[in-house]
Amino acid sequence: MKKPVTLQQAIVYFGDADRAFEYAKWLRWPDGKVICPRCDSEKVSFVNATTKKGGTRKLWFCNGCKKQFTLKVGTIFEDSALGLDKWMAAFWMICNCKNGISSYELHRSLGVSQKSAWFMLHRIREAMKSGSFAKLGGSDSGPIEIDETYVGGKAKNMHRERRIRFNQNRGTHGKASVFWMLDREARQVRAKVIPNVKRETVQNEILNNIEKGSKLHTDAYASYDELHKNFIHKTVNHVQEYVRGEVHTNGIENFWSLLKRGLKGTYVAVEPFHLDRYVAEQVFRFNNRATKDNPLTDEDRFALAMLQAVGRRLTYTQLTGQGAD
Ligand SMILES: [Zn+2]
Repeated sequence: MKKPVTLQQAIVYFGDADRAFEYAKWLRWPDGKVICPRCDSEKVSFVNATTKKGGTRKLWFCNGCKKQFTLKVGTIFEDSALGLDKWMAAFWMICNCKNGISSYELHRSLGVSQKSAWFMLHRIREAMKSGSFAKLGGSDSGPIEIDETYVGGKAKNMHRERRIRFNQNRGTHGKASVFWMLDREARQVRAKVIPNVKRETVQNEILNNIEKGSKLHTDAYASYDELHKNFIHKTVNHVQEYVRGEVHTNGIENFWSLLKRGLKGTYVAVEPFHLDRYVAEQVFRFNNRATKDNPLTDEDRFALAMLQAVGRRLTYTQLTGQGAD
């Protein structure tokens, strides 16, 4: 069977348990050499075990550590009772739907509970976080735009009295600052929720993410005033630049409109605690969108996120701060 191209084909393709298994196995061990995720031993033997319900469970026995493992061990799927067919369909959807997908849509599409769908989507977002340590910029690259944007504040959903009180305390109250850096020429963005916009916080992010000596464009905000020590720093008036509508600013405007549309339309009310994962989801789709120089397909994006699922965990306790029921 040919590899899937559309969502419909993906659901059919991964709906077959054996095919989903083979695909995920190929992604994880592309040379076919299965390695124990616990002890890295290559001495493993495949077991097609029969479950209590009469189904089959594919696993390996490791002769190194004498323990069994499945494809899910050591990945974002670990401890999940849901089959790879459901996981892979969910990965496909969130990687390729421009506005994201809500837990209600996923719950209806896959026939899992809304609560499971919500947990699945957060785990997938964890896999979508960039795993790259490569820095943006460099002395011969184009300028990198840097700014922060406030997201959140659910004034419109509040009771009237509370809303009045809320509006009186305006400013950044109830909002989270999302800090972003855009390399226009490479068409790559980095964005994350930061606890405050103090000089030290902002400069650490810049030093961690951008090569020294790069050209930076920021506004005249005081937190950016020492950047000239490590970078070629130019202050610009972002508001005017956006209004002028230069081609280069379209890049980040597109990113924000997609993020805000997703947050307002698809996700409605996002807790600030979870915002970073929604930002990561949008960054993933933005940085991996198809361009003339890099014609990525839906399957490419899907496979990339699936690859990043290895070596990551997000438990229900970590996600909610409570024990799983
Ligand atoms: Zn082992």
